[in-house]
Amino acid sequence: MHRRTVLTGPLPLVALAPVRGLAAGIGTIASFSILADMVRHIGGPLVNVSSLVPADADAHTYQPTASDSRVLTGAALLVENGLGLEGWMARLGTASNFRGVRVIATTGVIPRTMREGTEISLDPHAWQNPRNGMIYARNIADGLVQASPDRAEFWRARSAVYINEIEQTDAWIAAQFDPIPLAARRVITTHDAFGYYGDRYGVSFLAAEGISTDSEPSAKGIAALVGQIRREKVRTVFLENMTDPRLTKMLARETGASLSGPLYSDALSKPDGPAADYLTMLRYNTKLFVRAMRPA
Ligand SMILES: [Zn+2]
Repeated sequence: MHRRTVLTGPLPLVALAPVRGLAAGIGTIASFSILADMVRHIGGPLVNVSSLVPADADAHTYQPTASDSRVLTGAALLVENGLGLEGWMARLGTASNFRGVRVIATTGVIPRTMREGTEISLDPHAWQNPRNGMIYARNIADGLVQASPDRAEFWRARSAVYINEIEQTDAWIAAQFDPIPLAARRVITTHDAFGYYGDRYGVSFLAAEGISTDSEPSAKGIAALVGQIRREKVRTVFLENMTDPRLTKMLARETGASLSGPLYSDALSKPDGPAADYLTMLRYNTKLFVRAMRPA
């Protein structure tokens, strides 16, 4: 909780000293919770990071608030995903006169494309491949070095440790899929967030027929999806933390597929949830996928 101390009369200089020490962390704003977690891992006690889009919320459709604009004005570092995820950021940036260092975490990532209806667009969900997560971490470290060059060694050392952890997580995930034949690595999803993950680990994420991410599914769309699940013998349908669970639940009822999840794709869980940080999220989703793919 924030408490504002009201000071009256002349400010004693002695009282200021410890306050300055506390405020020494680099004020950092991340666009969404997964990036905020990465910044926290690399910056440790020397960053004060907050996320614009909160845990369990949708970064695609976020509506920035006036207070977001105010916190951004005071920040030294802004970390965004890029690849079209934060369509709302341009408005916010202009409104706040942000003058700090701006990091686009996907700089250097090879983007994949995704199909939305008839349109082909860049797929922003690059963090779902930990090899890309390592690139994100490097870009964030570069941003911290730029914002606070006198602590360059600190940022470099901590990012090296974190990048190593990401690499180990990647190896762990690959090992979980090793015993599963490629033909069994199939998942149906209503939100096309796992393309990079699928490319990395040989998992096919079947796009749900008849469903678009922006609109309520029609009766015809749902019927197409039910047909697809039966035809492709999909055994498990997954809930996601930030999308309406009703459609998924109905699909499970209609098709006899079992229900699993929630998967965490674009937002972490709350701190006491199962996906409170980036690497835990990757491992948690992997366990759910692998459980659903093992022979019955
Ligand atoms: Zn998404």
